[in-house]
Amino acid sequence: MIVDSHFHLGSCRVFGRTVTRDQVVHAMDGNGIEKAIVQPFPGAPDAVQVHNEIAALGDSIGSRVLGLASVNPHMDHAKYQAEIRRCVDDLGFVGVKLHTLGHAVHPVSDDALVVFETAAALGIVVMVHTGPGMPFADPTHLLERARQFPDTPIVLAHAGASASPGSAIAVAKQCDNIYLEPSWCKATEVRAMINALGPDRVLFGTDTPENVRVELAKYEEIRLTEVEAAWVFGGTATAVFGLRSGVDAELPRGGA
Ligand SMILES: [Zn+2]
Repeated sequence: MIVDSHFHLGSCRVFGRTVTRDQVVHAMDGNGIEKAIVQPFPGAPDAVQVHNEIAALGDSIGSRVLGLASVNPHMDHAKYQAEIRRCVDDLGFVGVKLHTLGHAVHPVSDDALVVFETAAALGIVVMVHTGPGMPFADPTHLLERARQFPDTPIVLAHAGASASPGSAIAVAKQCDNIYLEPSWCKATEVRAMINALGPDRVLFGTDTPENVRVELAKYEEIRLTEVEAAWVFGGTATAVFGLRSGVDAELPRGGA
């Protein structure tokens, strides 16, 4: 069972690209991905519409796709909260994205606070873009928020993305509610994260269709044990996002 915790659907005016629903399904079916957590790009022309498309895609392929909401929080806070609540209550979404780069949001700004408050109120995960886009995307900014919201799981998307993997590890060591999704990191950095934190704090993610096989190859090269693979490829995401089905929740932790 593989859960891909980071995938996008739709088009993006920020990064100038489009991912179709056929590409999502093809990437999943071609690589043994049982479930994918899918979000709009930060530059989605209409994020609300993409939220609906993600929900429809999930309905059409037997709930193998789950949604993660992504709306630019530089807007009226009540409207922001209403859309995230709709995604959770009506569409069954499991998290919300704070896109430090694509939405130009500093993690300790007032508008970022709304993202964390909304997630805490709804009991969902906050995924935060880290790595490219310094200084906003510096993983160390999440230390304050993780302590402020200790019951909210915070997933560092890209885990610093080779720009600052050491900082991602350092903040995750300080805060039990920080998890690392190391897409775009080097294989050696992914291994260092698993060794430093344990496999139950690291979760597989790919970001884009053409990166799926690349990410899988990295894990092959660092030779995960059976227990490590069970956590990284499904167990951690199942626990963090509260997915109904996944690998055995009684897996030994097997790490630091
Ligand atoms: Zn992404």
